[in-house]
Amino acid sequence: MDISIRNLSKIYKNNYQALSDVNLNIGSGMFGLLGPNGAGKSTLMKILVTLLEPSGGEIMVNNMPLSKHRKEVRSMIGYLPQDFRFFSKLKTYEFLDYAAALAGISNRKQRKEEVERLLEQVGLFEVRNRYANKLSGGMKRRLGIAQAIVGEPKIVIVDEPTTGLDPEERIRFRNILADLSQRDVTIILSTHIVGDISSTCTQMALLNEGKIGFTGSPSDFLQLCQGKVWRTHVRFDQMAAFNQKYPVITTIPDATGYEIELIAPHANDFDGEAIEPNLEHAYVYFIEYEAKKTIENYV
Ligand code: ADP
Repeated sequence: MDISIRNLSKIYKNNYQALSDVNLNIGSGMFGLLGPNGAGKSTLMKILVTLLEPSGGEIMVNNMPLSKHRKEVRSMIGYLPQDFRFFSKLKTYEFLDYAAALAGISNRKQRKEEVERLLEQVGLFEVRNRYANKLSGGMKRRLGIAQAIVGEPKIVIVDEPTTGLDPEERIRFRNILADLSQRDVTIILSTHIVGDISSTCTQMALLNEGKIGFTGSPSDFLQLCQGKVWRTHVRFDQMAAFNQKYPVITTIPDATGYEIELIAPHANDFDGEAIEPNLEHAYVYFIEYEAKKTIENYV
C-alpha cells in the first residue's frame, strides 16, 4: 500500500486555512501523525477517508487519484473517528455484526466467525452481550477499532484514539494497534500524545499549524534534539528565570532547589550535563524552537 499526499491544502468556509501544502508518503506499517490540538490532524484524516474535500492538491492511493476513485479507495479504508458513536440500542455483538454486514460480509456463518474473532482480538468477547453504550470508555474505543478493522481493510485510520483513556487502557489500545501492524496493513494514527508514537511506528510526521514540520522515523525525530537536552540543578530563586527562558521538561525538588531537565541549544549560562533525548523532548524541542524559529534567540 502506498499513499502519496501531494501539495494538499484545506481552507474552510470561514477562510481558515487548516492545511497548507502538505506532502507525505505513507507506506505499509504504522504511521504516526503527531501534532498539538488544532494542528489540522482531523482535517487531514477526514480528507483521507473522503468525508471532506480538499481545497487543493491530491492524494494518490496505489497510484490512483483519490479525487477520481473515491468509492474504490473508501472501500479499502477502515476508520475510527475522533468522536466515535454508536446506536445505543445495539449490544456489542450486534453492533459489530451490523458493521460486518456494512463491510459487505453477507454470509451469516462467515460473519459470525469474523465478529467472534474480532471480539477476541480486542478483548470484548466476555462483554459481547452488553449494550454498547454501557461499555467503559476504553471498551468503547476498542469496539471502535474492531468496527474499523472488520473485513480486513488495507488502510486503517485512527484519529486520536487514546484521548481520555486511563494509562492501562491506553497501553491496551496501543498493543492492539501494534498487533495489527504486524499484518500487511497501513495504519495511520493521529495523536497529540507523544507516548502513542512508539517504536511500532515505522514512520512519523509532525503537523503544526497545518504544516508538516518533520517527517521521518521516530529515531530521526530524536536526532533533532540530540545534544540539546540538559540536566542541571537550579536554586529556588533561579527557577522562575529558567522557566521563562527555556522549556523545562521535568522538575524534581530537593533541599536546595530543583533538579531540572531542560531543552536548550547550548548550556551557555548554566552548568548542564547533556542527557539522552526521548520523544517528548524532541516534540517540545520542535514546537518551542524549530516551529517558532526562535532558535537564534537562544544561541
Ligand atoms: P486537530 O485534529 O489537529 O486538533 P482539526 O483538523 O480538528 O485539528 O482542526 C484544525 C483547525 O481547523 C482548528 O483551528 C479548527 O478550529 C479548524 N476547523 C476544524 N473544522 C472546521 C470547520 N468545519 N470550519 C472552520 N474551521 C474548522
